[in-house]
Amino acid sequence: MIIETKLPKVGTTIFTVMSQLASSHKAVNLGQGFPDFDGPQALRDALVEAMASGLNQYVPASGLPALRQQIARKSESLYGCKVDADTDVTVTSGATEAIFCAIACSVRRGDEVIVLDPCYDCYEPAIELNGGVAVHVPLHAPAFSVDWQRVRDAITPRTRMLIVNTPHNPSGSVFDAADLEALADITRDTNILVLSDEVYEHIVFDGLAHQSALRHAELAARSFVISSFGKTYHCTGWKVGYCVAPRALSAEFRKVHQYVTFCTFSPAQAAFARILEDDPGHYRQLPAFYQARREQFRQLLADTRFKLLPVAGAYFQLVDYSAISDKDDLGFCEWLVANAGVAAIPVSAFYETPPADMRLVRFCFAKSDQVLAAAAERLRKL
Ligand code: PMP
Ligand code: GLN
Repeated sequence: MIIETKLPKVGTTIFTVMSQLASSHKAVNLGQGFPDFDGPQALRDALVEAMASGLNQYVPASGLPALRQQIARKSESLYGCKVDADTDVTVTSGATEAIFCAIACSVRRGDEVIVLDPCYDCYEPAIELNGGVAVHVPLHAPAFSVDWQRVRDAITPRTRMLIVNTPHNPSGSVFDAADLEALADITRDTNILVLSDEVYEHIVFDGLAHQSALRHAELAARSFVISSFGKTYHCTGWKVGYCVAPRALSAEFRKVHQYVTFCTFSPAQAAFARILEDDPGHYRQLPAFYQARREQFRQLLADTRFKLLPVAGAYFQLVDYSAISDKDDLGFCEWLVANAGVAAIPVSAFYETPPADMRLVRFCFAKSDQVLAAAAERLRKL
């Protein structure tokens, strides 16, 4: 029997590879992006309570109504966008599922999807599985801002979708209002859809406002806006996310979602509905919470030979290691985990064609004080 792979370019994700290396070398794991602390106790209590009270069967495929209402309310109050909880919100098993469904319901054979490199690793496989072609446009280091003229130049009659991500993984760059305006301008009078990956929407620093596509009426009308409770509530393993999109796009999205998973883990939906109602303060204080971690981590690395790039959002710190090594970034990460006992992610993993001279790795700073301090102690010796 011959097995013909549908994803010849895909191996095991870099996040899994680096977490396995971290574990086998007993290294401090600043690679794969996840917090090493728990979400609010009230959230975990609400999950247990939901299970104990018998909420253990299917809920509507689009999501528990109470949770959809909370998401609609939050989107309206934060971004000023009128969102109908019944028709515009779909709860998914993580943002990853939402990204897959948004792509699967809109990308047809031969369609082009513009992605901005470095980009998150699940976009391109989803595009390829659906017969599409990813068109890679690079972001500008060190700021990792978008050159909108290059995006415009990449558009062809086959362009079906444009994927953006703010706050950005891995760089931590964020959009400003002019970026939304440029995106609206480029897509105006076209049939191009936008997938706006906003999983770090509540982790934006220095008083900046998150520039959700929902803030811009024209963009909201053509966008799948995707977020993840895993990031906001420190529970990446619960895998609950959602997609906000206008009724007609949501209808297409739901056609796929109902056959990919049907519905998402019911007790967690009840728990998120409850915490959003009872404690909206949690996500309001998240910028300050993570900004303090950013400051602490940057301070800890200040007397190392790493050069720190700016971080405006999300929970990743890019560092330039060229003063320490001239290995490529994957080689450096392999060396670092084995010899210094710290796991990081090579930034080239987020590129189709990484710049040859790039010497950047990503550290995750969503970690406890002790873990950040232990990592820094090891990194200071380099
Ligand atoms: N998009 C980005 C940019 C991410 O960083 C992640 C996860 N780290 C996801 C999507 C997927 O989120 P989830 O874990 O909710 O599937
Ligand atoms: N999004 C996480 C990161 O960027 C990884 C999630 C995963 O491993 N799938 O590190």
